[in-house]
Amino acid sequence: MKINRNYLKLSENYLFSEVAKRTRDFQVAHPDVAIIKLSIGDVSRPLPAVVVKAMKQACTELGHAKTFHGYGPELGYPWLRAAIADFYREQYQVQLDTDEIVISDGAKSDLSNLLDIFDSQASVAMCNPVYPVYLESNLMLGRTPQFLPATVANQFLPLPDETITADIVYLCNPANPMGVCYNRQQLQLWVNFAREHHAVIIYDAAYACFVSGVDLPRSIYEIDGARECAIEVCSFSKMAGFTGVRCGYTIVPKKLLTRDGVSLNQLWRRRQTTKFNGVSYIVQRGAEAVFTVAGLQAVQKNLAYYRRNVRMIFKTLDELQWSYVGGKHSPYVWVRCPGARGAWECFDFLLNEVGIVCTPGIGFGTAGENYIRLTGFNSYANTRLACQRLLKLKQNKKH
Ligand code: PLP
Repeated sequence: MKINRNYLKLSENYLFSEVAKRTRDFQVAHPDVAIIKLSIGDVSRPLPAVVVKAMKQACTELGHAKTFHGYGPELGYPWLRAAIADFYREQYQVQLDTDEIVISDGAKSDLSNLLDIFDSQASVAMCNPVYPVYLESNLMLGRTPQFLPATVANQFLPLPDETITADIVYLCNPANPMGVCYNRQQLQLWVNFAREHHAVIIYDAAYACFVSGVDLPRSIYEIDGARECAIEVCSFSKMAGFTGVRCGYTIVPKKLLTRDGVSLNQLWRRRQTTKFNGVSYIVQRGAEAVFTVAGLQAVQKNLAYYRRNVRMIFKTLDELQWSYVGGKHSPYVWVRCPGARGAWECFDFLLNEVGIVCTPGIGFGTAGENYIRLTGFNSYANTRLACQRLLKLKQNKKH
C-alpha cells in the first residue's frame, strides 16, 4: 500500500487534546471548582431568529413535491451569491460578479482545498503563530512553509520583504491567534508584493465582521490591485453563529490570471463542480437571511456581546498590568505570559490558581511560546466571573 507518508509527519492534534487532558485531570482533582474556558474559539450566541425562520421555511418546502429541491448548483444558489455581492457593494464598496463567488461548507475546507489548483511544487508562506489549518494542509502535501514571525518587533503583523520567495501567501486578517489587524497601507504592501512576484494571497477573512472603523479594510478587494493577486475566503461561522450550521464562501476574481493567462476562477469552479456537491438548500436559505435588515441587526447585536466581553478582559489585564495585543477588531486577545512563564506553564498557572482555561500560544507555532490566547466568545456571566477570579491574583500578589 502506497499511502501519503506526509501524514505521518503531522504531530497528533496535540494542542487541543493536551488542553482537554490537563483540564480533565484538574477537574477530577478539584471537583468543586467550576472551570471557565476563556479558550473557546466557538461562538456561544444562538442563531439570529430570522435565520432560524428561513431554515424552517426551507425545510417545509423540501417536504412538499411542488417546492422540493434535490441537488442544488454545486457553486451555490444564485440568490445567495447575489446577496453576498450586494453586501460587498453596500458595505465595502466592492463590486463583485456573482460568478466570482463560490459557496462552501465553511472557510476551513476552502482554505485547504484551494491548494488543489496550485502546482505541487508551489512554495508557501504563512505567519508564525498561525491558524493550524494552513500549516497542516500544506504539510499533508509535503510542503515545508516559509514562516513569517509575528513578534513584538513587527507588532505581530509581518510585512513583505525580499526574503520571501513564496508563490502562495496566507494572510489571516484579523489574525487568529494574535487578534491584530492590518491597516490599508500594510495590506497595500502585501498586494504590491504579490503582484511584483506573481504570487497569490489566500486572504482569510473569517473574522472580518469584527473590524470596525473606516480606516481598516474588511475585504482585500478594498485594496488597489487585489483582484489581480488575491483569493478571499470567508465564513458565516463567526459572523452569524454558523459554526454548527456550516456555510462560507470563496471569492476568486476573474482578473486573477497566471502569466500565461489561465483563469484561477475557472480552475476553482472546475475543482468545486467535480469534488463538491454544494451546500444544503436549508443552510443556504439561512445564510441568505443573514443579509436581511433583521439578520444584519442580529449579527451586530451578537458582535456587540462578544466585544463587551473582550473589553472586560482588557480592563482586567490592564489592572493586572499584563501586556497584550489584539482584541480591538477581533474576539482574540494575545497575552504575554506574566512572570516570564512559558505558554504551558502559564496555562497550568491559570488553571490551578483560578480555574481558567486559556489556549497556550505555542500550539499555534514556536513564536507563541511566551503567549496565551484568550477569547471573548464565552458568555458574559462566565467572562465576568473569570475576570473577577483573575483580579484575585492581584489581591493575592500571585500574578
Ligand atoms: N479561519 C480561521 C482563521 C479560523 O479561526 C476558523 C475557525 O476557527 C476558520 C477559518 C474556520 O471557519 P469555518 O467555521 O467557516 O470553517
